[in-house]
Amino acid sequence: MAAVGANSQLNPLENAERQFEEAAARLGLNAGVKEVLKRPRRATIQHLPVLMDDGTIKVFVGYRVQHSIARGPAKGGIRFHQDVTLDEVAALASWMTWKCAVADIPFGGGKGGVIVDPRKLSAGELERLTRRYAADLSDVFGPDSDVPAPDVNTGEREMAWIVDTYSMHSRRTELGVVTGKPLEIGGSAGRREATGRGVMICVEQMCRHLGMPLEGARVAVQGFGNVGGVAADLLARECGAKIVAASDVSGAVHNPDGLDVPALLRHVAERKGVAGFAGAKPLTTAIIEYDCDILVPAALENQITAENAASVKAKIVGEGANGPTTPDADKILQDKGVWVIPDILCNAGGVTVSYFEWVQNRMGFYWPEHEVNSRLREKMEQAFGDVVKVAVAEKCSLRVAAYMVAIRRVLRVHELRGMYA
Ligand code: NAD
Repeated sequence: MAAVGANSQLNPLENAERQFEEAAARLGLNAGVKEVLKRPRRATIQHLPVLMDDGTIKVFVGYRVQHSIARGPAKGGIRFHQDVTLDEVAALASWMTWKCAVADIPFGGGKGGVIVDPRKLSAGELERLTRRYAADLSDVFGPDSDVPAPDVNTGEREMAWIVDTYSMHSRRTELGVVTGKPLEIGGSAGRREATGRGVMICVEQMCRHLGMPLEGARVAVQGFGNVGGVAADLLARECGAKIVAASDVSGAVHNPDGLDVPALLRHVAERKGVAGFAGAKPLTTAIIEYDCDILVPAALENQITAENAASVKAKIVGEGANGPTTPDADKILQDKGVWVIPDILCNAGGVTVSYFEWVQNRMGFYWPEHEVNSRLREKMEQAFGDVVKVAVAEKCSLRVAAYMVAIRRVLRVHELRGMYA
């Protein structure tokens, strides 16, 4: 997987590897072991023919990368986006390995993607594309081998199509093959909100650690989808924080007195974006640089870069998205004294409840939402505490500490299993 793009600062795979290297160096890993931990174990490319509504056939490109299966089945979402690349999918797969290890759940890391702008497809075309992708990967996916989930532009609907397609091929219903399913077909209570809830718990823990009140704190949220929308709602509703700015592909809005988040969520559901929300003014400057106490980037990678990091006003950055901060930006933020809660910790709530969903599918016994939420809180608080402890002992950033926790856990499994080399 070669580097792509003229600006390597923005290549997510290079960024993921730089983050890994920094922690690996502190751990003094030997060169061979380091290479095993760093490289994805397997990557597949699919060319997916899809019958379009006008009768033509169009071929889409899809990827699935398994970074590691050392601690359990590969686990990771499927992204539908026009800018998907193999490097991006590989980076996201490696972040999944480290995230599952930080959260201490028995999964490895994987990720999938299809190069497509789903807004340009009809529902029927999207269904045929999703099914063809799942059918082509039916020998890779499986409850014990590789378990996908939603990511950008995929959700419960796509997961239901994948369960059905996989089940048709395996001649029996296999609910545990994907997570993030609708409740009626083996989804878990609390899964839809889990990533945002995990972000809220991490922000809450960070504020407690810093002795900073969360009630009344001003929060700006970039990306108002599954992660950002829910995080904003929970931070406002359960913690009393004030959401002062929100953005998505449609634009950005702000209100220094606080946005009415439930009304904004309704607006987004109806109008497919935050733009035009009556209870706010349009925001014409970059949301990353907005004057706030807490910034939650919850859209895509590479949003906080060497170019804008110095202008970040927030004291805490809670990474809801994967890879929103480049390594160069990370250094600038650290020098400024900004506390960055790294993605592999901050957005681990989603995969944690995905794990609960997979467990419930295997048991055939389903937990009420309060039980899911309290188990999630326990896992997130434990993970946050583990990371802070290492950060304090090593005098390093939370990101380096999170990688150190994760790498140690994966390494330990390799030591116990022995290396089949
Ligand atoms: P989503 O599709 O539900 O929402 C993405 C949001 O980002 C949308 O509001 C979209 O309009 C917005 N967006 C896209 N490009 C933007 C841009 N350039 N500027 C501002 N906003 C932009 O996706 P999601 O599931 O909320 O995922 C968001 C991020 O969180 C991704 O990085 C994803 O990998 C990560 N993540 C998601 C989950 C999950 O459970 N869904 C779990 C962990 C991490």
